Amino acid sequence: ESISDLLDRLSAIVPDYPVEGVSFKDLTPVFADPLGLRRIVDEVIEPFAGQFDVVAGLEARGFVLAAAAAYASGTGMITVRKAGKLPRPVHRDEYSLEYGTGTLELHRDDITPGTRVLVLDDVLATGGTVGSSVRLLAMAGADVIGVGVVLELEALAGRKQLAGLNVHSLQLV
Ligand code: IMP
Repeated sequence: ESISDLLDRLSAIVPDYPVEGVSFKDLTPVFADPLGLRRIVDEVIEPFAGQFDVVAGLEARGFVLAAAAAYASGTGMITVRKAGKLPRPVHRDEYSLEYGTGTLELHRDDITPGTRVLVLDDVLATGGTVGSSVRLLAMAGADVIGVGVVLELEALAGRKQLAGLNVHSLQLV
């Protein structure tokens, strides 16, 4: 089965969520499937093998992928979190996203300068979330070597916002 067929078979599409007119792509059934989870994790990190020291997961669904990817590749994992969740000094970045605005934070000492980081999230939409995360990681002196997502919502042109980054998605929708 191709990765696209697997994603078509297991993803759920939720009309009018979280607001009317939006068609929400729900990957939780893929995460819940034993072969599905393994396939998406393996395939999302495959082009970056040997190129990163740590995986950054974006709250919250990115944590699922990033923890599994870090374990599979024998690296550690760091968390990029929504405002107010991290207990120690943070870098902070405000960003706009598909359904409003938000703030992301990263512990200042979770990364040492020069660390090669692979950023993982479930869905790339406008690119606001990934863009903000990349700025945070840059504040910490990290070297973002790539971005991996399962789904890329092509019409929202997130990839254009991420010029210069190596972005790998498993399926365009
Ligand atoms: P962006 O910042 O506009 O690229 O939106 C991406 C963020 O919003 C990611 O963290 C996604 O988890 C979430 N997101 C946006 N659209 C969807 C969707 O259709 N399904 C699941 N997550 C989404």
